[in-house]
Amino acid sequence: MSTAAAPFDVTRVRRDFPILAQHVNGHPLVYLDSAASGQRPNAVLRAVERYETHHHSNVHRGVHALSQAATEAFEGARERARRFLNARSRREIVFVRGTTEGINLVAQAFARPRFGPGDEILITGLEHHANIVPWQMVCEQTGCTLKVAPIDRRGELDLDRFLRQLTARTRLVAVAHVSNALGTVLPVERIVEAAHSCGALVLLDGAQAVPHTAIDVQALGCDFYAFSGHKLYGPTGIGVLFGREELLEEMPPWQGGGDMIRTVSFEKSTYNDLPWKFEAGTPNISGAVGLAAAMDYLEGLDIEAVAAHEQRLLALATAELSRIPGLEIIGTAAHKAAVLSFTLRGCHPHDLGTILDSEGVAIRTGHHCAMPVMTFFDIPATARASFGCYNTEADVDALVAALGKAREVFG
Ligand code: PMP
Repeated sequence: MSTAAAPFDVTRVRRDFPILAQHVNGHPLVYLDSAASGQRPNAVLRAVERYETHHHSNVHRGVHALSQAATEAFEGARERARRFLNARSRREIVFVRGTTEGINLVAQAFARPRFGPGDEILITGLEHHANIVPWQMVCEQTGCTLKVAPIDRRGELDLDRFLRQLTARTRLVAVAHVSNALGTVLPVERIVEAAHSCGALVLLDGAQAVPHTAIDVQALGCDFYAFSGHKLYGPTGIGVLFGREELLEEMPPWQGGGDMIRTVSFEKSTYNDLPWKFEAGTPNISGAVGLAAAMDYLEGLDIEAVAAHEQRLLALATAELSRIPGLEIIGTAAHKAAVLSFTLRGCHPHDLGTILDSEGVAIRTGHHCAMPVMTFFDIPATARASFGCYNTEADVDALVAALGKAREVFG
């Protein structure tokens, strides 16, 4: 019996995303900005609507039926996220607003109370601002030092230099799993192994990895993993911080308020168990429900099949764009996710983005919250096309045609 997987049916997938069926500026929408935010399938829209229509109430504090239904939905979403990451326990899954909040939580509740002068945090030259600024804040607060491992002209991490910068002083390594500006997939297994052998812990910024690859935090061996729901075809304002239970257990809460306490008196308060100790205030309940539906949806499509489809589009787009005179691809790592950054000679990326938008082609332009990457390549910005499960070869053709129009305008 054949075990060959069914071919990836992108036409069927597109039918799940009603937003894609619209025209923009008189052209069918070509959405090439999933690295900024993915669109939501019907399954997510309906799960959120169902929750809001039938089950909403506040969680954890009510004895009435709706509060119990909401609590069940919210805690069910936590269990879904645990399975998605293959974490050992639900106690290791903290709901946050997104990757940014997850990293700030680790910076303030893990690094800040522990680190001091002489301690080092090691990041790389391709990080998103969300994985730079929280560490700079910790350095200002504690006197510890931020080290940056360089990248090369292809946008790959210089692993030798990274390994040399990793010393007994390194307390934490915080790196992107996948770069949003360049598409580079980092050798995170190797990074985790090397960091641990030096006694440093590892945080992975998974914002750009989760839509393209199955994540197993136990196999990765990382200590923290943060990601956002909206990059995963889920809602905005919800994300997950995974943290190893022993670490979360030792960390103090970072925000105070309802839900994170066990007892409160004016003299002293005591804190709730994991993971609620880190979830002060009413959470984004419908967001968590939508995120769980997004995980069901993506796993239902088969993440590996989605990734293979996106890799075909990336290869096609890379080949097509490489033929355009004056176009330079920024980020040519051997191992890339479905992100294609580029510049076009004589045309500022913002102008390029505007011309493409007039053709119905949505790309992102700017520094992509990675200003040090732009500085490294000595450019103000790039244009970036990124691919998701719903993109097609026709989308690549539309991008190429729109770039042809831009070249006519800018000569
Ligand atoms: N890290 C990376 C690599 C990202 O791409 C992003 C989003 N662009 C973030 C962190 C921040 O994610 P969010 O804005 O959802 O918190």
